[in-house]
Amino acid sequence: MTNPKNAPFGSVLASTMAVAHYRDGAWGKTEFRVTGPLEIHPAAHALHYGSECFEGFKAYKHTDGSVNVFRLDMHLARMQNSARALVLPEPDPAQLRAAVLELIARVREDVPDAPGALYLRPLLIGTTPNIGAAATPATEAILIVLASPVWDYFAGGMKPLKILIEEHAQRCAPHLGMVKTGGNYAAAMGPTLAARKQYGVDQVLFCPGGSVQETGASNFVLLRAGELLTRSLDPSFLHGVTRDSILVLARDLGYRVEERVFDVAELLAYVQHGEAALSGTAAVLSGVGTLVRDGKEFKVGDGGIGPETLRLRNALVAIQQGTAPDRYGWLTRAC
Ligand SMILES: *Cc1c(COP(=O)(O)O)cnc(C)c1O
Repeated sequence: MTNPKNAPFGSVLASTMAVAHYRDGAWGKTEFRVTGPLEIHPAAHALHYGSECFEGFKAYKHTDGSVNVFRLDMHLARMQNSARALVLPEPDPAQLRAAVLELIARVREDVPDAPGALYLRPLLIGTTPNIGAAATPATEAILIVLASPVWDYFAGGMKPLKILIEEHAQRCAPHLGMVKTGGNYAAAMGPTLAARKQYGVDQVLFCPGGSVQETGASNFVLLRAGELLTRSLDPSFLHGVTRDSILVLARDLGYRVEERVFDVAELLAYVQHGEAALSGTAAVLSGVGTLVRDGKEFKVGDGGIGPETLRLRNALVAIQQGTAPDRYGWLTRAC
């Protein structure tokens, strides 16, 4: 297997995957197979009508050799909600949980030491073969769990991000923002690639009608000494587990945490003397150095990664890697 240190995030896969089929109203047994192609009918519902959803979370090898999954049950509950929103057969939560834990045990040799991790990717796709089912839900499905050894995003040093403020295009349909479904990423791809080309930015911060939401695959938080501001939960954006964890840690560290709607004018005023960061499983918490609006650049603080971003990031990573106590019961030991 390629060393994950030398490979882009998600491009190296463990040799085993878990697969289960839903047919005739019931889930079959989970099978563990060599990671590779699946036979799917070209008329499969997901390929035409986008009936698919996924999850993404990490398991960490601690210095005692144990491998521990971060907030497994919150991720599995979100997968359940995504399946329900898309009218897909819902995974059996106990079966999926067991499949994830057994898969980790089976690929344990491939779990990198810290600061690497094993990234887990459950995937649910509607497979009913019927190209006339645009308004009919899939009644057959496949549930897959892939595992990918990953390295620290910032192993080469943390570089502040440059982000475009987009006030017109939407990331996705407003009622589906909280669902981790492929179509949402396809919808954000065009605006994101256009912004990269035109402004040389890393990501796009979607702010439809001026209301700050999130980027294509991460939540957005503002920070100042002892203060945190982020959008309050609503169906328009993804309810990140990292976001939730950062809010818990910030409250415990005595920050004043505000969850509410705010607009681009307030954002630009805030960052003159504040920090901005993206949150998500892949990169944990990444500092934003520059915002671009209508072609004009705005520095966030002094343009570097701020101390509050680093403090919260380090507090979370310490729990994940087992160097700080798991005070909130966030870890599930897989093996
Ligand atoms: C997955 C995702 C996030 C981050 O969620 P985490 O649970 O923190 O990994 C944020 N926004 C979008 C659009 C996502 O897909």
